[in-house]
Amino acid sequence: MELKVKNYLERIKKENKRYNIFLYLNENAVLEAQEIDKKKKKGRLYGYVFAVKSNISVKGMICNCASRTLENYRAPYDASVIEKIKAEDGIIIGMVNMDEFACGSSGETSAFGACRNPRAFGKIPGGSSSGSAAAVAAGFCDVALGSDTGGSIRNPASFCGVVGVKPSYGLVSRYGLIDLSMSLDQIGPIAKNVSDCSLVLDVIRGKDERDTTTFDSREIKIEKVGKIKVGLLKVEGVDRRIDEMVEKKIRMVAKEKDWEVEEVKINYIDLAVETYYPLVYSEFFSSTRRFDGRKYGRKIEENCKEEVLRRILGGSEITKAEFSGKYYKKALQVKELIKEEFEKVFKKFDCVVLPTCPGLPWNIGEGEKMKPDEIYAYDALTIPANLAEICAISIPIGEIEKIPIGMQVMCAKNEDGKMLSIANEIVGDVC
Ligand code: GLN
Repeated sequence: MELKVKNYLERIKKENKRYNIFLYLNENAVLEAQEIDKKKKKGRLYGYVFAVKSNISVKGMICNCASRTLENYRAPYDASVIEKIKAEDGIIIGMVNMDEFACGSSGETSAFGACRNPRAFGKIPGGSSSGSAAAVAAGFCDVALGSDTGGSIRNPASFCGVVGVKPSYGLVSRYGLIDLSMSLDQIGPIAKNVSDCSLVLDVIRGKDERDTTTFDSREIKIEKVGKIKVGLLKVEGVDRRIDEMVEKKIRMVAKEKDWEVEEVKINYIDLAVETYYPLVYSEFFSSTRRFDGRKYGRKIEENCKEEVLRRILGGSEITKAEFSGKYYKKALQVKELIKEEFEKVFKKFDCVVLPTCPGLPWNIGEGEKMKPDEIYAYDALTIPANLAEICAISIPIGEIEKIPIGMQVMCAKNEDGKMLSIANEIVGDVC
């Protein structure tokens, strides 16, 4: 472990400037590795080096959410997921870049400069867990943790050509996560292959008294998949080349494995983006009230960038008493409808397959000229899983114009193990 950590640190020190991935490096990592190397009995994550999104608390490390608001904020305790990783001898090598407070899909909204895409230099790495996906793609760590509220693990995993998992809502504790939207957030792993994601997910899952949404789950492990029925979801507005690549891939794998593939329709998912934003604006507005600059950090409204401010102001407006029942409650009702639709679909199908992103990543810097709606539309295919509380994974399936393309596989709530097993058969181990 010591040598591995040293190699990673050396590579990071040499190449991080090019990619702007790490915001904070753990200078104790080598010492920690030496201690673990000496242990007689090693944990399940022995040999795994982690990068952590800068909104997940790691004791003593800077957890700034890529915002000036929390610029020098050091987490005073470990998030539940970090406690679990440390208990199994995983090493945290540092904290990585992201969209400010996880608001974004490109990585461009970080207060510390956009992070670069190691697989398609000059293009956005996707977001908001930009640094997490980029760190894995650049070979700066074995696994990274990200958070996914509307696609923030899957979208950058897709653009950076790696595997990213959004677990079922409640599978993983969010205690210690600086939240974007409590009713949608999940923490999940990003790695080069499905089996590493599976191992890490099994370690970090589980009921936690400090997050009441968590539930007792089954062990997560990759198993052989028998004959299954795949629902192929075609959504309007997707780049035709991406659509074709996903369909071709799943039909080819299904033929080999004797799986059944049938096109599936899911009602109301065209309303997903419109449903998501009132929920996020309202919950984000409420959760940011603690960043008033009195106890720690700075006052958020005076120190954040445009997108975060838009959501705070928007959230304060739509949660006013005179709008009661109009935005937030309506959005919750549609969320419920979408959830029910997926429940119906999973009675008939084992999984649903679709692209991760509807288009290719844009050039870094272009996002500043795009309208919010255009950017929000990039999450049209990932948001439905968050609203439905189900699990979803993005796996790399090829390239278009030398840019990685991701396919999503979705399964019912608490079927994360089955989803990983199916994804593993589709992609095989990437490395
Ligand atoms: N891009 C979406 C948003 O800006 C998703 C963010 C996320 O999943 N954290 O809200």
